[in-house]
Amino acid sequence: MTAILAVFGSGTYLFVSRSFYRQLDKKLLTLAQAATPFHAKVQENGSNYLNQVDEVPWRDIFNRDRQSLEWFDPEGRLLATRGELTVKASPQVGSQTETMPASPHYIRSYTISVFRDRAANPASESPQTSPNQPILEGYIRASQSTEELQTSQQQLLWGLITGGSAAVFLSAAGGVWLTRKALMPLEKNLKQLRQFTADASHELRTPLAAIKSSVEVMQNHPERIHPKDIRKITAIASATDQMGHLIESLLFLARADSEQTPQLPSWHPISLQELLNDIVALFETTAERSVIKLITKIPEDGVVMGDYNQLHRLFANLLRNAFQYTPEGGSVTVSLSRFHRFCQVSIIDTGVGIPPDKQTLVFERFWRADQSRSQRQQGTGLGLPIARAIAQQHGGKITLSSKVGEGSCFTVSLPVAPSIV
Ligand code: ADP
Repeated sequence: MTAILAVFGSGTYLFVSRSFYRQLDKKLLTLAQAATPFHAKVQENGSNYLNQVDEVPWRDIFNRDRQSLEWFDPEGRLLATRGELTVKASPQVGSQTETMPASPHYIRSYTISVFRDRAANPASESPQTSPNQPILEGYIRASQSTEELQTSQQQLLWGLITGGSAAVFLSAAGGVWLTRKALMPLEKNLKQLRQFTADASHELRTPLAAIKSSVEVMQNHPERIHPKDIRKITAIASATDQMGHLIESLLFLARADSEQTPQLPSWHPISLQELLNDIVALFETTAERSVIKLITKIPEDGVVMGDYNQLHRLFANLLRNAFQYTPEGGSVTVSLSRFHRFCQVSIIDTGVGIPPDKQTLVFERFWRADQSRSQRQQGTGLGLPIARAIAQQHGGKITLSSKVGEGSCFTVSLPVAPSIV
C-alpha cells in the first residue's frame, strides 16, 4: 500500500508540477505577444519611447514587481526593459529557467522572435534572402519569478504526504481489523478442536481404565482363561497399553496447546545431573539387552527451573528413540554442558540417522519415518512433538543434527535457574 501510494504520489506531483510550468509558460507567451506591436518603435526610439506612451496593451496582465518584459534587437542586445526582475542570461527562443540571486526561487522566462513582413520594409531586403521570408526584427522576453509556483508545489507536496500518510495509517488499521475479524472464526474453530481433543482424550481414559483393569484381572487368573484365548488376552492388554499412551500424549498436547498445563506453581529448581543420572539408570538394562554402549558425560551440574516429571518425560522420550533407532554395537551418549545462560543436554546416538528433508518433519505430530514403522510398532509419532512442547514450556528449545547412517544428536537447551545465573 505504501509503495503504491508512493508511486501514485510521485506521479501526481510530477504531472501537476509540469502542468504548473506549462501554465506559466502560456502566461508568459501571452505577455510577450502583447508586447510585440511595440518592438519596431522601441527599436527606432530606444527605451524612452515606453515612457512616452500612456496606454500599453500589456498593462492589465503585467505585474512589474514579479515580472519583466525585455525587448532585444536581432543580435540579442537589450533595447528596453520593464519590470523589477533582472534576468542575466541572453535570450533564447522558448522557455528558460535561471536561479535568482540570494533567493531559493527561480526565474522562468519565455522568449519569442519578432518578425517583420518584407512588404512593410522592402529597402532592407538582401539579395540572399527569398522574397517570401520574413525579416527577424528582434526578440521579446517575458519573465516571472517562480515563487508563487514553488509555493503551490510545496502545498501540493505536503497535501500528498499528509493524505498518503493518512491513507497508509487507515489502510494499516483497516487491514489489522479485517485480518482479526477474518481470523476470529478460524481461531474459534481451532480452540474448539483443541477443546474437543482434550475432552475426548479425557473421556476415553475412564472406559480404557476399566478395560485395562478387567484384562489385568483376567491375566491374574490364567486358570480361568481358555488356553486358546491367552494370546488374544495378551494382545488386548498390549493394545490397551498402547491406546493409553496415545490418549495420554494427545491429552498432554491438547493441554499444552491451550496453555492449561499448570506451570510456575509446580516448578522447582531441578538438578539436571540428578535427573539425567536417574533416567540413565532406567535405561541401563535396555542398553545391556540391546548391546548398545551407554555413555554419560556430565562433568558438572546444571540447575533449571521446571517440572521434574515433564523434564523426565522429555529426556526419556529422546533416550527411548536413541535406543530404538541404534543398531546393536552402537552407542548412545548423554552429555550435559553449559552455554551462556543455558544448560544444554545432548542425546547422541550412532543409529540410522534422519535425512535432512525429514529433520523438521520429525517434530510434526503423528509423523513417523516409513522405515521406523517396522522398527518400532509401539511408536505413535507423538514422542518428539511432546519433547518439543515440554522444552518450549520451560523456555527452551530442542534442535536436531543428524546424518543418515552415522547417527543423530538431539540437543535440548534450557535456561539456567535465575538464582543460579
Ligand atoms: P515415535 O518414536 O513414536 O515414532 P517420535 O515422535 O518419537 O515418534 O519420532 C518420530 C520419528 O522420528 C520416528 O518415527 C523416527 O522415524 C524419527 N526418529 C526419532 N528419533 C530418532 C533417532 N534418534 N534416530 C533416527 N530417527 C529418529
